[in-house]
Amino acid sequence: MNDSDFLNLSRSVKDHVVIITGAASGIGRATARLFAQEGARVAVTDLGYDRVDAVVQEISDANGTAQGWELDVTDSGAIKNVFDEIALWGEEDSPRIDVLVNNAGISASTAIDDPNYEQAWNTSLAVMLTAQTTTIRAALPYLRKSEHPRIINISSTEGVGGSASASAYTAAKHGVVGLTRSLAVELGDEGITVNAVGPGPIHTGMTEAIPEEMKTKFARRRVPLRRYGHPEELAHGVLHLALPASSYITGHLLMVDGGMTIKNN
Ligand code: NAD
Repeated sequence: MNDSDFLNLSRSVKDHVVIITGAASGIGRATARLFAQEGARVAVTDLGYDRVDAVVQEISDANGTAQGWELDVTDSGAIKNVFDEIALWGEEDSPRIDVLVNNAGISASTAIDDPNYEQAWNTSLAVMLTAQTTTIRAALPYLRKSEHPRIINISSTEGVGGSASASAYTAAKHGVVGLTRSLAVELGDEGITVNAVGPGPIHTGMTEAIPEEMKTKFARRRVPLRRYGHPEELAHGVLHLALPASSYITGHLLMVDGGMTIKNN
């Protein structure tokens, strides 16, 4: 970009090729729908083709552009193949990816002395941290072809604090922040921005088993905005970091948590 380009920074992601992992539910699904609404071409990826297909259908019904891929983020071979296909999608002459959103996640509540701890640790780190490195490595050659390359990694309030019986999840989410900051420095000279988003408590598949009254009580006590957030509110945070106009924001952790992490009393 030259100096005059900064006078008219674009707030459009129209025709940008956007990959979202874990996009069949919750935050990933809302993010896929929002990017499509903004004119992006959205690659919806998740476990289970039927679930992926349902989101693609929703987007198509709303006149958006989306295509679905069944993808387990712990399968590095599949990631490489699927990303190669996505990069070619509509761009056969010059394959590219503009935005990668690393969103797939699982919750595993396991005490440190639980007999299943090792499995919870391995799975949490594999899905929520190692996978982000695998997808970034697969996307990088194609992000390098983009005019506005963006990597956005989903962390959590657990990326800056901790909860009992959540150490595997918390370690993964802290790791996401470290990965984001290090890569922001490493890839900065190529103009690739790398940022993280830290959701607070959000109404999604991950939290649906928590009884409503517990959610209300928790939010009143811990969240300045006094409620759980909605996945669409997260999606807007992700979109903001993906805009061409967000070209000078990198290595940032954007908390979308109703103020939870800054509350002292
Ligand atoms: P969700 O359960 O609604 O969605 C998570 C999606 O990830 C699911 O569709 C699931 O199939 C997918 N997924 C799980 N394992 C996968 C794998 N191996 N490969 C591909 N996809 C896989 O939950 P959500 O709340 O929308 O979670 C999205 C992200 O937000 C996660 O990284 C989560 O840790 C984070 N987060 C959520 C909250 C919250 O309160 N909901 C809070 C903080 C952080």
